[in-house]
Amino acid sequence: MGLRHRHNYESLVGSLKATERHYLPSCTAGSIDVALVYPNLYSLGMSNLGYLTVHRLLTTTPGIAVERFFPALAAESPLAPPFYSFESGRPLGDFSIIMFSFSYEGDFDKIPGIFAALGIPVVAEERNHHHPLMIAGGAAVASNPQALSRIFDVLVPGEAETALPSIMNVLLKNGMQPDELAALPGVWVPATHGEMLAPVLIHDINTQPAYAHIVSSQNAFGGAHLLELMRGCPRNCSFCLARAIYHPVRSLQPTRLAEWLDQHPDCSDLGLIAPSLFDHPQIEEIFNMLAQRNIRIRNSSVKWEKLQPKLLEILHKSGVTGLTLAPETGSKRLQTAINKPMNESLFIESVREIFAAGFEQLKLYFVACLPGEEQQDLDATVDFINSVVKAAPSAGHVAAAFSLFVPKHRTLWQNKPAPTLQEMKHTVKYLKEELNKLSAQLKTSFASPQEALRQSWLSQAGPELAIEYAREANTCRENRLFSRNQFSALEF
Ligand code: SF4
Repeated sequence: MGLRHRHNYESLVGSLKATERHYLPSCTAGSIDVALVYPNLYSLGMSNLGYLTVHRLLTTTPGIAVERFFPALAAESPLAPPFYSFESGRPLGDFSIIMFSFSYEGDFDKIPGIFAALGIPVVAEERNHHHPLMIAGGAAVASNPQALSRIFDVLVPGEAETALPSIMNVLLKNGMQPDELAALPGVWVPATHGEMLAPVLIHDINTQPAYAHIVSSQNAFGGAHLLELMRGCPRNCSFCLARAIYHPVRSLQPTRLAEWLDQHPDCSDLGLIAPSLFDHPQIEEIFNMLAQRNIRIRNSSVKWEKLQPKLLEILHKSGVTGLTLAPETGSKRLQTAINKPMNESLFIESVREIFAAGFEQLKLYFVACLPGEEQQDLDATVDFINSVVKAAPSAGHVAAAFSLFVPKHRTLWQNKPAPTLQEMKHTVKYLKEELNKLSAQLKTSFASPQEALRQSWLSQAGPELAIEYAREANTCRENRLFSRNQFSALEF
């Protein structure tokens, strides 16, 4: 990076820093220094409570210095080595511990470019004590830690709150010895444990709720504060990871929420984080509390079967103009197969109530290419969307967003075959054509088949991923190309 490049980087960091409010003092000096990498956009990292929780735990541990890293500060800013810390502009390679937070498997593909730029071997056995200690955690690691088992020295496949404090204490006491960490619960050191995964411990979210201690106006919630209201989901949809990786379900008590709000008197806008918010047993009491305090609620994803006029009224009064429902499919047969049955006429009734309550937009989430999906299932989904559009008033906007089935590791459907690229392209084309024939009120969007295929591959990848990424890192180094790794060089 030349001087001009460095100047541009610093001015972009400066403008992003100006968007932040900090609720804890930063700690960038200590006997152990940690670089905490979010391998995606700054705005996503600052919306991710997993990443923010790790940062909060580190920054409040005496003796630990932590600095944030975002290889892509903004959508138009690609990976451009050398990487500098967000806090002080220190090079990433200077840190003694580099910690990655992977919230989805697609971010694994940033590994070759970052390791290549740092000159660090991708395969853990090829590194020595001169290299930084490489640690990884996050939801994608909880789902498929095996994929990273030959890349990282230490993996945290469970909840950071239960493992990170003891990891840092051991490192502070005994130095950079990954072996010493192997005795800790919730910590997997593949070189010591082999294939035996560490048991995962459960964090009580009421003793220490997860929240954003840095609030950026660039976060995905429009600059709102973020607070975790529920961890885990009581349902078990066949394709979804939420139950497997966050079990058992834990809900933040309303009294605990009230305490947190008292500690954050400037909070007038709050993003409520939960995989299935409307399954919170005290959701009505919580909404009432937020309404009484004039706090705008940021969570537009609702369960149609739990909607009541009172909840709709509170949400609408708090400034929410659109809601999101997730029917996943219009096919009755597939609704049963995914464990998400739906009464279509009651659903349509909910749609009418939503618009009657004053909401202007309704977004529907679907998953296409589900296992066993046939032509009649696709047609059922198109018919279902048509019924929703017809139930909306002429001024109401309806959007249908389609993701594509990925057989995620640890879900009920982990062993189902992933749809082929051709199947996905064909399905997307068909749905687009059919849905385009419906009203102009309807907007549609579709996940990329290539990206879904890549995610499927990564969800099932094992330790051999290290060899693939090592090859890619060499190519990155040879070509001086560090940003090509959105997708790896794998042949599909
Ligand atoms: S899809 Fe939603 S309701 Fe189903 S298990 Fe996942 S988070 Fe829960």
